[in-house]
Amino acid sequence: MLVVMKAHATPEEIQAVCDHIIQLGFRPHPLPGAQRTAIGITGNQGEVDRGNLESLSGVAEVIRVSKAYKLASRDVKEEDTVVRFANGAAIGGRDLAVVAGPCSIENRDQAFAIAEQVAAAGAQFFRGGAFKPRTSPYAFQGLGLDALKIMSEIKDRFGLRIVTEALDSESLELVADWADVIQIGARNMQNFSLLKKVGRLRKPALIKRGLSATMEEFLMAAEYVMSEGNYEVILCERGVRTFADHARNTLDLSIVPALRHVSHLPILVDPSHGTGRRDSVLPMARAAIAAGADGVMVEVHHHPEKALSDGPQSVYPAQFSTMMQELEQIAPVVGRKLPRGVPVEDRP
Ligand code: PEP
Ligand code: MN
Repeated sequence: MLVVMKAHATPEEIQAVCDHIIQLGFRPHPLPGAQRTAIGITGNQGEVDRGNLESLSGVAEVIRVSKAYKLASRDVKEEDTVVRFANGAAIGGRDLAVVAGPCSIENRDQAFAIAEQVAAAGAQFFRGGAFKPRTSPYAFQGLGLDALKIMSEIKDRFGLRIVTEALDSESLELVADWADVIQIGARNMQNFSLLKKVGRLRKPALIKRGLSATMEEFLMAAEYVMSEGNYEVILCERGVRTFADHARNTLDLSIVPALRHVSHLPILVDPSHGTGRRDSVLPMARAAIAAGADGVMVEVHHHPEKALSDGPQSVYPAQFSTMMQELEQIAPVVGRKLPRGVPVEDRP
């Protein structure tokens, strides 16, 4: 159920409706839009009695949201969500966002060498795994807290915002303290208790699509986070498993316009995990932007042949720089802009 407030509803009227919803035993989610505020109602197993809600002051109408996902739906919020960061960077909106860095933080020198080059090429976000979800328990599992500390230094040094994965409740606590964006990996997309915990934090969450998740399942993962009051959710398409054997995964770019149609949440595309092949990353990054994605997340390594994880899909810094030039040219064709780098005042 959704309460649509009148265009000129006062903050007091909005608050009174929220209080009323709480009294009914439900949870209100006020979502301000350009024209009006909508208040989503969750926590109801069945129908909410709309009768008394409609009569409250400032209420324009009460409508039923028929989709399984509510807060993630455009029915509830028409305008695109833009997740904003202190350095003037944003994910969503007109400006494209580029998240770049190694699959894993391996040591301080490696991380700094890569960060310096992606910052020079104009990225605004740095990615790097501290807690790694590896198929084999014998594979490199990440440096943990040490990696978070290295990325925090990178943030101070280059002004890059930090995106890194939380694998479980324990790592979530650390990641929430150190990172700017909490990444929830493909394998955890349906870890509902973890999603709820992320929902209780007030920090942007980037959710990667599960290996075999439908669009609705993907959006329900976002809904789990939003239902707990964290509305800063970013979706990331990273390829799904199919019979195709020419690539690690099949990057499903057709989900970009489909998501855009039904959801207001920002959408990134990860062509690195989406293809698993260095030579496919640039073409698919270009295609992602052409398809309307809000940005890309790309793995970059200065010595990919020595990388402790995902070397074959990591591009060289020079390739990353070429990618930035290409995306800059494609952006205006689809009504976007590629901001280059971090505003000067945010640099040390
Ligand atoms: C990653 O971004 O390094 C990662 C492990 O991604 P995914 O969860 O999409 O496999
Ligand atoms: Mn990786």
